[in-house]
Amino acid sequence: MLQTSRLCASYRAIQAVRDVSIEVPDGSLVAVLGANGAGKSTLVRSIAGVHRQKTGTVLLDGTPIQSMPLHKITRLGVALVPEGRHVVAPLTVAENLALSSYAGRSDQALEDRVYDLFPRLAERRDQAAGLMSGGEQQMLAMGRALMTRPRVLLLDEPSMGLAPSIISVIYEAIAALHAEGQSILLIEQDATRALAVADHAYLLQRGEVRMAGTPAELAQSDDIKKAYLG
Ligand code: ATP
Repeated sequence: MLQTSRLCASYRAIQAVRDVSIEVPDGSLVAVLGANGAGKSTLVRSIAGVHRQKTGTVLLDGTPIQSMPLHKITRLGVALVPEGRHVVAPLTVAENLALSSYAGRSDQALEDRVYDLFPRLAERRDQAAGLMSGGEQQMLAMGRALMTRPRVLLLDEPSMGLAPSIISVIYEAIAALHAEGQSILLIEQDATRALAVADHAYLLQRGEVRMAGTPAELAQSDDIKKAYLG
């Protein structure tokens, strides 16, 4: 279980995340919704150890991880797929996956699992990552995170800037991972997509949790309907 308690994060004087307490129980898919600038990226970057200026606690199975360096948090099983899809452009798909594999050892079984999840990556395994489409790079970024065998996968706006048909492929993979029991914290602006797959959701507004509940409860809220569901 991943839990934050009264997590606050700032950029110098700007407080981007305020007293955020959320839970991702084992095997669940939890969504955090919110508009541009609501603090969603800062929240996951703080959990993953990328963002350092923060207070409050982050617990992974009861162990406080908020003061640990990024590599240690990754080793304990928290993997962030950042917004903007970080792949190593000159390396091939297969090399990108191998590079991310747990402890740097090649893991063919795990690589094959990524290829099962994203057949497009299998077709392009010898292609340079930088020459792939945005959607394929998103798949590869998720594949790289999966190569670390994460206990919790943090996905920061996986649908950002992608065509609807590609977003569907990405969301089918998210649903498949969830069905396998992978714990997932999903950051999204696209409430319709996120609420369709989540077990539980939070709405973040100006850095604070404004609402929490089941997808059905959030979908019924006037705030969400007006701002996110059209
Ligand atoms: P988006 O979907 O646009 O990324 P978000 O919900 O992820 O939005 P954040 O990126 O976490 O929001 O930003 C939260 C707040 O922190 C915003 O007010 C933003 O301007 C501010 N912020 C983000 N990054 C920085 C930075 N590097 N320096 C200063 N302020 C920042």
